[in-house]
Amino acid sequence: SVFAKNMTDPKAERTFIAIKPDGVQRGLIGDIIKRFEQKGYKLVAGKLMWAPKELLMNHYKDLADKPFYNGLVAYMASGPVFAMVWEGKAVVATGRKILGATNPLDSAPGTIRGDYCIDVGRNICHGSDAVETAQREIALWFKDDELNDYEFADKKWIYE
Ligand code: GDP
Ligand code: MG
Repeated sequence: SVFAKNMTDPKAERTFIAIKPDGVQRGLIGDIIKRFEQKGYKLVAGKLMWAPKELLMNHYKDLADKPFYNGLVAYMASGPVFAMVWEGKAVVATGRKILGATNPLDSAPGTIRGDYCIDVGRNICHGSDAVETAQREIALWFKDDELNDYEFADKKWIYE
């Protein structure tokens, strides 16, 4: 479901991660998925989707008064996005670390943005910035029946 079944279980935290149109065009879907998989996070949902402008405007509504907002929505609407939900302990904050700082010139090497991009307006990926934001974004991008509840076979090898 949209909300992980047991919200008291820290391993059930979920985040919304998206590979933006430039990341899709540049062939980075596999590498970005690989980094989250290798860390030990569980993929709950994923789809390639050419997002309608209304969805993107809603997704970025908190930035509506920024000078780059229209350009940001146009960039996000310029091609399909690979939208995902990842689950695991502290996945929201850790997911942001895996992506790297918003401005790729400040993103550490070893992060996705640090390794693959230069301009803030072409920073190839999105990650929710808080647990509440993640819940809003997951509900915005996914239908309830697109979220897969399943037991991760590796779980006992990843968590103590
Ligand atoms: P994020 O949470 O790290 O993605 O950063 P924000 O929520 O602050 O901004 C959302 C997205 O807007 C960023 O990922 C960038 O693609 C874009 N963005 C942020 N700041 C700027 C800016 O100063 N100029 C441009 N062109 N785009 C920006
Ligand atoms: Mg943000």
